[in-house]
Amino acid sequence: MGAYVNPIYPYKSPADLIATPPQRKPLIVIGAGPVGLAAAIDARLQGLDVLVLDDDKTVSIGSRAVCYAKRSLEILDRLGIANEACDLGVSWNIGRTFLEEDEVYQFNLVPDAGHKRPGMINLQQYHVEEMLIARALELGADIRWQHKVTAVTPHDTHATLTVETPEGTFDIEADWLVVADGARSPVRRHLGLDIEGRVFQDRFLIADVIMKADYPAERWFWFDPPFHPNQSVLLHKQSNNVWRIDFQLGWDADPEEEKKPEKVIPRLQAMLGDERPFELEWVSIYTFQCRRMTDFRHGRVLFAGDAAHQVSPFGARGANSGFQDVDDLLWKLALVIQGQASEKLLDTYAMDRQFAADENIMNSTRSTDFITPKSRTSKTFRNQVLALAKHHPFARKLVNSGRLSVPSFLTGSMLNTPDAEAFAGNMVPGAPMDDAPVQVDGQDAWLLDQVGKGFQLLLFVDAPPTPDVLAQLAFSGNAPLCANAAVQVTPLIVSPSPLNIPGIQVIVDAQGLVAKRYDAQPGTAYLLRPDQHVLARWRSLDSARLQAALARALGQFSPQA
Ligand SMILES: Cc1cc2nc3c(=O)[nH]c(=O)nc-3n(C[C@H](O)[C@H](O)[C@H](O)COP(=O)(O)OP(=O)(O)OC[C@H]3O[C@@H](n4cnc5c(N)ncnc54)[C@H](O)[C@@H]3O)c2cc1C
Repeated sequence: MGAYVNPIYPYKSPADLIATPPQRKPLIVIGAGPVGLAAAIDARLQGLDVLVLDDDKTVSIGSRAVCYAKRSLEILDRLGIANEACDLGVSWNIGRTFLEEDEVYQFNLVPDAGHKRPGMINLQQYHVEEMLIARALELGADIRWQHKVTAVTPHDTHATLTVETPEGTFDIEADWLVVADGARSPVRRHLGLDIEGRVFQDRFLIADVIMKADYPAERWFWFDPPFHPNQSVLLHKQSNNVWRIDFQLGWDADPEEEKKPEKVIPRLQAMLGDERPFELEWVSIYTFQCRRMTDFRHGRVLFAGDAAHQVSPFGARGANSGFQDVDDLLWKLALVIQGQASEKLLDTYAMDRQFAADENIMNSTRSTDFITPKSRTSKTFRNQVLALAKHHPFARKLVNSGRLSVPSFLTGSMLNTPDAEAFAGNMVPGAPMDDAPVQVDGQDAWLLDQVGKGFQLLLFVDAPPTPDVLAQLAFSGNAPLCANAAVQVTPLIVSPSPLNIPGIQVIVDAQGLVAKRYDAQPGTAYLLRPDQHVLARWRSLDSARLQAALARALGQFSPQA
């Protein structure tokens, strides 16, 4: 056992970036945190050149994000690091909430079987960032450490950045700029852009402890435990025998005093028992806010991650929602940069993700209000709920120790084509796709691994498609489905048993779970976004409707549509 040592990434002279007049890059990302790195990887996967500028030379210091949700793992699958993250991380689905010593509430994040990824993994943020950096470099992203962006000047067609390095300052231009420079976002401040919300008056102590313990891989949350009366405590198992413990301290606590080992160690001993040996890896105090920028898009400058929105840690919605920002943004940006869609498509990034940020802020605020009641009335309500929850099941549903990150259903997205026929279930236009076990080429596989590769069309069949349907598909091999559209739609046939259809991938839904989760019948077709969200669905395929839906998905809609 030993404490983590941050790697140092090499500084590279910016000589090749300096020019008079300034060099122009198609895409620059500011910030090599989880969000900026994910954006760089996605950019490379979309075929874009990308330059990443970061003012630091290492990964996140200390203990920050722990929990990565199922949807993030699905995105990381697409980006290529999910296996590694899951191998090192601690998978879990069960969360338990205790009042004093009694369990009052329990949840299971993924109650039904048939999903590739668990509800959550716990993994230290520094490990995730290391994996993202290695992947970004492997894909050819140009990452420059110790390159601090000190000014951004937006123009109609590009942005000019001033960059400070150990060798001096230079200017560089970007056709498009993704700002992922974190919660304090110097770029946001430099541009004078607003971010509004609430600051919460409470303090939490984080202690990352290296110890051997056989507690199950579950999230445990206590209200008013005997070892830390009148406050709450959260316990998470991370990788390499590191345990993360968060102690609520209250607003009046002195952060400097509380960080001292002579204060921290007795708290831990009271919780863990005097005999258990442990080593402190990290101690810090955090406070938090829930707020977001009014607009995530400012012309050629796009904000993502903590720079655009912040939440309290309860619910693990920070990095998780940042990954979803990237997932939403990069395919749109690629289509715009590659001239296949108008800039209007990027307005839908802002709309989609502002909606999601509001949902995350609402959930995070509710949890925080419960854990840290603001007024005498809310505290009375909270305490009454907890007292009732001990004996009455109905009150347990009201106990809120953090509603954990789930992806937003983008049902209001302008890109969706509303249903014209009846469907049951959750897979409405705008929904993030549900996973299911399938077979491909005789091998066990997962539905979500087959999608997220440009626009795709799932066509459910129970027999080889008729010549009529094949004509509707109007494909030949993997040629564009819509001959007059600028982008390809790749058909995928979903069948209960193997079929051989030259030039088309067949997904075998042997367990029938895809059909069940998508309420599909033979003939049902789903048009899918490149980020694994449903765009449109029909009970039968019709190329005119398909083309209209595709045009809409490319941003060809009227604002009132
Ligand atoms: C206590 C705590 C617990 C948390 N738990 C969770 C959790 O369990 N799950 C979860 O999803 N999230 C969690 N979060 C939130 C998560 O840590 C953040 O949401 C995440 O780090 C945001 O990533 P980011 O890339 O947007 O920003 P950051 O990680 O802050 O990265 C920003 C990067 O930009 C660089 N930078 C800044 N200014 C400049 C500049 N001028 N020029 C160039 N580079 C610059 C910085 O060096 C940094 O590398 C937690 C946060 C805290 C504090």
